[in-house]
Amino acid sequence: MRQEFKGIGASRGTALGRARVRLPHALDIEEVHIDESQVEAEIAKMHDAITHVRSEMDALRGRLTGALVKEMGEFLDLHALILDDPELIESLDKLIRTRLIVADYALKLQRDKVTQIFSAMDDTYLRARVDDIDLVLSRILAALHRQTAKVDAKVGEILVAENVAPSELQELVDQGVIAIVTVMGSMLSHTAILARSMNLPLVVGAVGVLKTLNDGDTIVCDGGTGLVVVEPDAADLRAHRERDKAYLAEQKQLDRLRRVPTVTTDGVEVLLYANAESNADVTKARRLGATGIGLYRTEFLFLQSLELPTEEEQFRAYRDVVLGMAGRPVTIRTLDIGADKADRTGLALRNEPNPALGLRGVRLSMMRSGLLETQLRALLRASGYGPVRILVPMVSSREEVVQVKREIERLSTMLREEGHAVAAQIPLGAMIEVPAAAIALSTFIKLVDFVSIGTNDLVQYILAVDRNNEAIGNLFTPLHPAVLKLMHQVIRLAQKHGRKVSVCGEMAGDSTFTFLLLSLGLREFSLHPTTLLEIRQKIRTANIASLEEHGKRLLRATSTAGIERWMNQYGGMEINPA
Ligand code: PEP
Ligand code: MG
Repeated sequence: MRQEFKGIGASRGTALGRARVRLPHALDIEEVHIDESQVEAEIAKMHDAITHVRSEMDALRGRLTGALVKEMGEFLDLHALILDDPELIESLDKLIRTRLIVADYALKLQRDKVTQIFSAMDDTYLRARVDDIDLVLSRILAALHRQTAKVDAKVGEILVAENVAPSELQELVDQGVIAIVTVMGSMLSHTAILARSMNLPLVVGAVGVLKTLNDGDTIVCDGGTGLVVVEPDAADLRAHRERDKAYLAEQKQLDRLRRVPTVTTDGVEVLLYANAESNADVTKARRLGATGIGLYRTEFLFLQSLELPTEEEQFRAYRDVVLGMAGRPVTIRTLDIGADKADRTGLALRNEPNPALGLRGVRLSMMRSGLLETQLRALLRASGYGPVRILVPMVSSREEVVQVKREIERLSTMLREEGHAVAAQIPLGAMIEVPAAAIALSTFIKLVDFVSIGTNDLVQYILAVDRNNEAIGNLFTPLHPAVLKLMHQVIRLAQKHGRKVSVCGEMAGDSTFTFLLLSLGLREFSLHPTTLLEIRQKIRTANIASLEEHGKRLLRATSTAGIERWMNQYGGMEINPA
C-alpha cells in the first residue's frame, strides 16, 4: 500500500529502488536468552570477535611509523593487555554459560559492571582507565555486530537506517547503494556533507520509516524535498522521472557558466574556492573553474580504513590534490577527527559524553603529537609540488597557532635536511569556528596568513544548538544577530590586517545566503563543487554597492525575524518566517 514520509532533503537527486532496512545496533542489545545447546556457539562467536579485534590491533601496530610508533604503541600495548586479560574472557564465558544470554548482552553486562567498579575508585589515574576498557569492549561489540549486522547491500538498493556514519558511505556506494534514508541526522552532519560530495541522494529525519519499511519494498526518495514514498503509484513514478529530468536540465543550464568570471554587476570579483573530500571533487573543482581548493578535509582519508594512513600514503594523497589543481592554491586542513567524524581505528576517539565539546580538531592532533607530526611532514612534502596552504581546525587560542607554526618550521628544516623539496612560503590559516577564536582573533591574526569561517560549527557553538540534531534543527540558523555580528567582526578584522578571509561552512554553498554574505563584506567563498555554478550565477546578479548600503540595516536587526525581513527585502531570496 502506498505510504508517504516527509524527511529533510540533505543531498539532492532522486532515486527509485528497493529498500534495504538496517535496524539500529542499540535495538540488538536486548536480554535475549539462548538454550543450553547454543551456549558453545555463542561463546565461540564472542571469542571470534575478540580474535578479530586482536588482529585489527596487530595490523594497526604494524603500520605505525615515525613518531607514532612510541605514542600509539603505548596505547595499543595497554589495549592488548586488556584484551588478553584471562579474567575478562572468563567472566564473559561465565555470563553466557550461567545466565544463558547472547554474547552482546553478556558484553553489555560486563561493561556496566566494570564501569561501576572503576567509577567508584578514588585514584584518578585508575578511574580514567575505564575509558580504555570501555574502548576495548566497544571494539569487541562492533566486531560482533559486523559479523551479524553488516549490510551487504546489492545494486539498486536504498539503505534505510537509523543513522549512517561518514566512514560507511564509500563501502555502501561500492556495494551499489543508490540513495540513503535515515531517521536521524541533519543537513550539516558530515555524512550529509560527504553524501553531497558523492552525489548520493540522502534524506534525513525520516521519522517512522524503520517501523514501516521491510527489505525489498519499492521506494522513491527525493534528496531535494525529503519526500519518501513507499510502494509508489503510477503518478509517483511519473513525478520521479520528471524530477530527474528537471535536475539534469538544470545542471546542463548551469554548466554554461563554467567559463565565465565570478563578477558582480558593478564589477567586483568574488573568489570561489572549492571544498573537497575526494579526488573526484578536485577534478570537478578544476573543471568548474574554482579559484583553488579552499578546504580539503583530510579526515576522510582516515575514515575509510581501520588503519591510520602512513606519512607516505598521506603525502601521495595530498600531492595528488596539488597536481590535480595544476598550480591553483590548495588549502589542506589538518585532521579534524572527532564529534560525528569518529574514526574506525578507535584510537583517535574515546567514548566522550559530549564529543562536540571534546577532543577534536587541533586539540586531538596536539594531544597525540605523533599524528600532527606525521601529517605535517606529508603536507610539507606535498608543498614541493605546487601551492599548498595549511589550515588548522577548531582553533580556540593563540597558543595553538603558535605551537602549530613552530612545528611547521621545525619540520620544514628537518625535511629540507633530508633532501625533500619544501615550498619557501606555505600560508598558514586558522578555522574560525569556535567563538573564542572569533572573539579573540585580534590576539593571533598577525600570526596567520588567512582565516576561514566554519559556520557549521560556529553557529552550533554560538547558539548552543547541536548541528547534528534534527530535533532542534529549527533553532540552528545563521540568521541570528549574534552570529551575523560575530561574522562581520571577523571579516572586518581580517581585512583590516590585510588577511584573506573566506567562509567554508555549508552556508557558503547555499544561495539563500549569498547576498547576505556579500553584504557582510565577504569576497571569498569556499563551497562544494556541486553548488559552485549556482552561487556564481547568483553573484553575477548582485550589486555590491547597494548590498553594502543595505548591510548596515542588516547589522542593526535585533532578532531572527528582523533578519528574515531583511532577507526578503534585500537578500534576493524568499524566506518564509518560522
Ligand atoms: C565548519 O565547521 O563550518 C566546517 C567547514 O568544518 P566541518 O564541517 O568539517 O566541521
Ligand atoms: Mg568545523
